[in-house]
Amino acid sequence: MANIQAIRGMHDVLPEQTPLWQYAEKIIRDVLANYGYSEIRLPIVEKTELFKRSIGEVTDIVEKEMYTFDDRNGDSLTLRPEGTAGCLRACLEHGLLHNQVHRLWYYGPMYRHERPQKGRYRQFFQFGVETYGMESADIDAELLLLTDRLWTRLGIRSKVRLQLNSLGTIAERLIYREALVTYFQRHLAVLDEDSLRRLMTNPLRILDTKNPAMQDVVTNAPELMDYLGEESRAHFYSILETLNTLGVSYEINTRLVRGLDYYSKTVFEWVTDELGSQGTICAGGRYDGLIEQLGGKANHAVGFAMGMERLLLLLETIHVELDAAVNVYVIRVGDQAQKVGLHLAEQLRSDIPTLKLQLDCAGGSIKSQFKKADKSGATYALILGEDEVSRGEIAIKSLRDPAQAQQNLPLNEIAVFLKTLNLL
Ligand code: ATP
Ligand code: MG
Repeated sequence: MANIQAIRGMHDVLPEQTPLWQYAEKIIRDVLANYGYSEIRLPIVEKTELFKRSIGEVTDIVEKEMYTFDDRNGDSLTLRPEGTAGCLRACLEHGLLHNQVHRLWYYGPMYRHERPQKGRYRQFFQFGVETYGMESADIDAELLLLTDRLWTRLGIRSKVRLQLNSLGTIAERLIYREALVTYFQRHLAVLDEDSLRRLMTNPLRILDTKNPAMQDVVTNAPELMDYLGEESRAHFYSILETLNTLGVSYEINTRLVRGLDYYSKTVFEWVTDELGSQGTICAGGRYDGLIEQLGGKANHAVGFAMGMERLLLLLETIHVELDAAVNVYVIRVGDQAQKVGLHLAEQLRSDIPTLKLQLDCAGGSIKSQFKKADKSGATYALILGEDEVSRGEIAIKSLRDPAQAQQNLPLNEIAVFLKTLNLL
């Protein structure tokens, strides 16, 4: 019988890959802490209605990407395709939006039934950030500065570009929408099937098309920027001014509309040219209207989500110095050495809490244990044979520097010696 395999588009992260994940996750958490953001942990499953109401019925996600199923009692549930809806649901449910300001983040898997390809999966991880209760453009700018700082810390700043746009208020967008529909109706022959469908349901999405045959008609379409009112414009310019003052470069992309219904005013994407058509690694914007849409009092919200797999693909294109998983590997040969070595390993872990010490428990010849020591990535091997044990000593050998001679030390001096090595 064939072995059972993982579900298409859902991936295991193997031990050789997890160090890079942990490296990125730590830097992201550190940067979020730099800005005073708090973590919120949310369920992976929510009522289907939540996503239909928040993301919008005529979006790609709700129309064709959700993993929806009936619970045993008949409720329709959905594996979260994104985190914004659940985060807002939780904050409304627990009264966190009442006269309060919040800066939150969450991290975890999201699920969308898409065609799997490089950078596009059916289970993928997102770091999401949501802020509530702030009207000022400073918070929109803060999210851009935070992400800019994050790319710098991760060493990929030169590989990503910031694209920005303003979608104005919902009222402004409605007027623009009419102008856009009128314009596209004059060019029906050029529109592909998807765009014809969107013409009546979500015409702004047509601007997002990747179809080369439609680029001309999209380039010449009316621009939303021309339909923005005074206040929306001022909000947008205030963000640009902050970015200019702090030297964060950006491109204004008037075609950037984002797929979801809930955005207003600011929308942005951090994109890279190194991952083919899956080039957006982080995307977000302001979604003031959503809180009322979900039954809350009028309020303000700005957030973004970052795709971890795409970020990891980008990190794989640069050299990242990762901490070794093991510093010291203990080799034991002979019955006495087994016991002494085990006790010593525990003692050293107590003496040096940051030590990453691996004890060989599989045995074998000294040669085969040395091979495993080398493969472990450890800098030093500690060797206990019958001779060493009978003398109350241990041998220490560098696994990385052939010039360093092997030396013997009394057992009770090894902790002090390890502390002097610069490997912890
Ligand atoms: P795309 O246009 O690439 O489909 P999206 O607009 O659907 O992206 P969002 O819903 O804004 O994406 O999600 C934010 C980020 O999450 C994306 O920029 C991307 O990095 C990541 N992401 C979204 N969908 C997937 C997926 N199926 N696989 C991997 N990462 C994804
Ligand atoms: Mg998508």
